[in-house]
Amino acid sequence: MTELAAAGAALAGEAARYAGMGWMRGTSGNLSVVLGRDPLRLAVTASGLDKGELTAEDVVVVDGEGAAVSGGVPSAEAGLHARIAAVAGAGAVVHVHALAPVLAAQRWPDGVPLRDLEMLKGFGRAAHDDLVTVPVIPNGQDMRVLGDAFERGFRADTPALIVARHGIYVWGGDLRQARHRLECLEWLLRFVLETRIDGVGRDVR
Ligand SMILES: [Zn+2]
Repeated sequence: MTELAAAGAALAGEAARYAGMGWMRGTSGNLSVVLGRDPLRLAVTASGLDKGELTAEDVVVVDGEGAAVSGGVPSAEAGLHARIAAVAGAGAVVHVHALAPVLAAQRWPDGVPLRDLEMLKGFGRAAHDDLVTVPVIPNGQDMRVLGDAFERGFRADTPALIVARHGIYVWGGDLRQARHRLECLEWLLRFVLETRIDGVGRDVR
């Protein structure tokens, strides 16, 4: 199996899992893995397909701008994947349209504060006395504008970005680490939404 086919198979497997969780409804969301860094090359899920039904062939190679190098049509969002991979040094970036991050961004448009929750360990942070603020940026269709907004708020210890009224990006060294971080973060966001008590102890009811 070629490196690209292996990446495609891994991306299809992850996408099916996220689709099963209701986080990739319709044809939404996209996942990527870095194939090479010099120059930057990513394998990204192809655009416009049901993410629960991808095969190892439904993958596109893009460059550092998110433009197709080979394969079919990449999602427009591939540009932000590439920017995140470059800036954060991530090996994999996952973007899903889960509801909890979008609801949380609506309530905390300047960033979602989280603290003193065991699941923060699964996000790579401490369970106690460690204020984590998940950045929120406005939605838009120009990936360079989104990329600039991401970079302004980037912190190496906070591997996630919520795009308001849209979805969330989470990254890690590989797809498995990104998935673990996303699963834990989605739980954390549901916690603050349902309790309506955020990480700075503010009761936002
Ligand atoms: Zn999206």
